[in-house]
Amino acid sequence: MNKEKTTDILHILGETIAPGKSKTINFNIAKLYTSTKVEIPVIVERSKNAGPTVLITGGIHGDELNGVEVVRQIIAKKINKPARGTIICIPLLNVFGFLSMDRYFPDGKDLNRVFPGTKNGSLASRFAYQFVNEILPHVDFCLDFHTGGASRFNAPHIRVAPDNTSLIEYAKIFNAPFTLFSKNIKKSYRSICAQKDIDILLFEGGKSQDNNRDIAKEGVEGTMRILAHLEMLLPHFEIPIQKQDTVFIEKSMWIRAKYSGLLHIKVPYGKKVEKGEELATITDPYGKMRHIVKAPNQGYIINVNEAPIVYKGDAIFHISQKLP
Ligand SMILES: [Zn+2]
Repeated sequence: MNKEKTTDILHILGETIAPGKSKTINFNIAKLYTSTKVEIPVIVERSKNAGPTVLITGGIHGDELNGVEVVRQIIAKKINKPARGTIICIPLLNVFGFLSMDRYFPDGKDLNRVFPGTKNGSLASRFAYQFVNEILPHVDFCLDFHTGGASRFNAPHIRVAPDNTSLIEYAKIFNAPFTLFSKNIKKSYRSICAQKDIDILLFEGGKSQDNNRDIAKEGVEGTMRILAHLEMLLPHFEIPIQKQDTVFIEKSMWIRAKYSGLLHIKVPYGKKVEKGEELATITDPYGKMRHIVKAPNQGYIINVNEAPIVYKGDAIFHISQKLP
């Protein structure tokens, strides 16, 4: 982390928050057709003791509930009350998508592909612009919670760019079961943070439109480990211990269905499998065909497609290719 930005009084979204104070700011982003205001609660907790500002976000994709759940638990358990510095929580960035259980904004845009946004662009772009200009300037460190798309269930992991040594160290501290090296996608939240020299860990776990307890636990406990490292976790919390060190995954590939049919998964997410191991079967509805999906190499299963039926070519497993 670079030099901490927060000094004394925090001026954010038109509000003033002194050290030791907390405030929920309703970030007014738009109006519905019905003239109903759409407001995003931004929950700010400040310690009297000076320190960094951490921003914790979920629901950038409106249907990724597990991420919203992680931030909800952090607030409900009062983990967001810092021993020093400031913690800003935004559990739900895309309220529109949350209402309709959709990844996108009503303008059809993926919020995570329009950063840094434009002042007079379409809805998602305007929102990104306000976020970048009114919230990010105050922030030293970001944690952003996601899930796999559609029915694809991600093993809990952190994503970092392979060349960012500072983030690799933070990923070790977060200590999710896996850490994936992945380049920053253009116009994503991660890429704008990289441009502005703000450290960000992106967490992936579970699948969209689903809420999994084990995944939420990984997200919350990793956050606690990061906050403890930053000396921001209040002393009455016990720092959760992870039995194993995070497994770094440098290279991975998608295993695709060779046939269309009913998909029967045989291995749990996160499992280390051997080359040739049976991972799933694909059958037809008539009991004639039974195709065995085998592991192309030894590796960890980091995503499992939980869809009951697949088309030929659909991604069914994400597997690591080079064991650490
Ligand atoms: Zn996402």
